[in-house]
Amino acid sequence: MQIWNSWGNEGSILEPKIGSSSLGMLCELIGVASPLRDSSLAEVVDKVPPARLPEHRLISVDPEIRVRHARGKSLPDWLALRSGEVGVFPDGVAYPESAEEVRELLSFSRENDICVIPYGGGTSVVGHINPLAGERAVLTVALGRMNTLLELDRESQIATFGAGTPGPLVESLLKAEGYTLGHYPQSWEFATVGGWVASRSSGQQSLRYGRIEQLFAGGRIETPQGTLEIPTFPASSAGPDVREMILGSEGRMGILSEVKVRVSPLPEKETFHVVFFADEATGINATRQLAQQRIQLSMMRLSNAVETKTFLGMSEDRGQIELLENHLADNAVGDGKVMLTFGVTGSGDQCRSALEHAQTICSQYNGVDTGTLLGEHWSAGRFKGPYLREPLWKLGYAVDTMETAVDWSRVASTMAAIESTIAGALNGEGESVHVYSHLSHTYGQGCSIYTTYLFRVGDNYDETYRRWEKLKAAGAEQIVSCGGTISHQHGVGFDHKQYLPAEKGELGMAAIQSLCDLFDPEQQMNPGKLL
Ligand SMILES: Cc1cc2nc3c(=O)[nH]c(=O)nc-3n(C[C@H](O)[C@H](O)[C@H](O)COP(=O)(O)OP(=O)(O)OC[C@H]3O[C@@H](n4cnc5c(N)ncnc54)[C@H](O)[C@@H]3O)c2cc1C
Repeated sequence: MQIWNSWGNEGSILEPKIGSSSLGMLCELIGVASPLRDSSLAEVVDKVPPARLPEHRLISVDPEIRVRHARGKSLPDWLALRSGEVGVFPDGVAYPESAEEVRELLSFSRENDICVIPYGGGTSVVGHINPLAGERAVLTVALGRMNTLLELDRESQIATFGAGTPGPLVESLLKAEGYTLGHYPQSWEFATVGGWVASRSSGQQSLRYGRIEQLFAGGRIETPQGTLEIPTFPASSAGPDVREMILGSEGRMGILSEVKVRVSPLPEKETFHVVFFADEATGINATRQLAQQRIQLSMMRLSNAVETKTFLGMSEDRGQIELLENHLADNAVGDGKVMLTFGVTGSGDQCRSALEHAQTICSQYNGVDTGTLLGEHWSAGRFKGPYLREPLWKLGYAVDTMETAVDWSRVASTMAAIESTIAGALNGEGESVHVYSHLSHTYGQGCSIYTTYLFRVGDNYDETYRRWEKLKAAGAEQIVSCGGTISHQHGVGFDHKQYLPAEKGELGMAAIQSLCDLFDPEQQMNPGKLL
């Protein structure tokens, strides 16, 4: 079971330490901080109001279960749970085990005018699964018991999963058959196949395996208007693609019960490498070349100068870092350097050839290749980042992220604009914000920009929320004014919905609304999200 107010499973304490180097760096950058008092689970459970639902055999109205499904994993969600001011709870939570039970719950909701929130792993960072205040009762439908590999078509390499199957189970079930999905969002430990489709997710190795829109082959969605079967085709020119309509539907059109995904045979070999470049412009150009020359890499992540410095500064192994810094300085890579991590995955021959090509391009930009040591470090820690929020919080620091995607011609300027806006957003109150970014999920046309920001919590929860609100609004408005998408991978949910019209336009918004209305004429499905 997930910890109710943090990242991770109950009982498995994976709490990375903030060592003295990291703490010293934080104090220097943003000041010494004091933590806020956390509420206990019992205190929050005590605040849960009576459920407004008629009885149903599949629905639990247990207050603790309702608390555990009230919020996702955004920073506002974190503040709500930690302060105990959650506000709104679902009136009940159902755990269907089959498509028939999902249909039964939808009929029950229609008959009783109940709003329905589909819930996968609850890892949303934009308020997707939070119930909103209103007259109508809210039922959260948690798909966690629909978690099996239902079918594997080896010839076509298509696997059918129950929509509530989480990342680790997807991979272990496939691995036993010699396959992989290769979809690894950082939230992989808890996020589910249905959640990936509904929120248009992107995994760390999207360069090799594709985003979820390339991996999602079809499936079944239960809507208030009936079941929609989405057949699998390798490709089709038969009009607009219904599969695409469901991708990113964020629970507004129905509940995915089965998801068919395109899988690949397990790769023979996989290694991760790190190359440093002298400055950001050179690193961006090298990364762009690697993407545009279609080198068969499985992932790329270019940490900008501040992220590189932060990453190296946080290492407690100062001796090794000094050796590395000296080696880089000997090769004219000093202050302002940037770090490119890339992966090669596939057969031995494919990996060799991709590595050779990548190294040739990197050397054209005077990149300093440091081999696989730091790459292995990235790989070993690729899902550990989210666990850092807890120890930072206990020291009085809050951390959040923002992300977008833009064309290559605007990458450098957009990244700089987002960072400087966020960094200056709390100047008026004398607070510093530590901001850094990386580029990942590269395409021929552009890439995503992923920005992390750390700030001190305020004297109380309201003040801390207000700081977050300012930072979020500043970053989001800058993204929109730079012509970036409001989200490359986190989706829209509640927190991004005000920015959506800027990217879809009036007619586009009306088209999306009419699709939702068609599947859900009574506006019962996750109302208030996306649109
Ligand atoms: C630490 C952290 C790191 C993250 N890293 C990444 C990342 O690298 N890449 C990325 O893409 N995202 C990332 N995310 C965001 C999040 O994990 C994704 O949006 C993920 O796809 C959500 O999956 P979930 O199963 O948890 O869905 P939930 O959070 O439960 O739900 C998300 C949305 O999907 C809908 N939904 C869920 N299941 C269904 C279903 N069966 N049928 C219909 N609708 C459904 C919900 O109603 C909701 O609107 C991260 C989040 C966290 C907290």
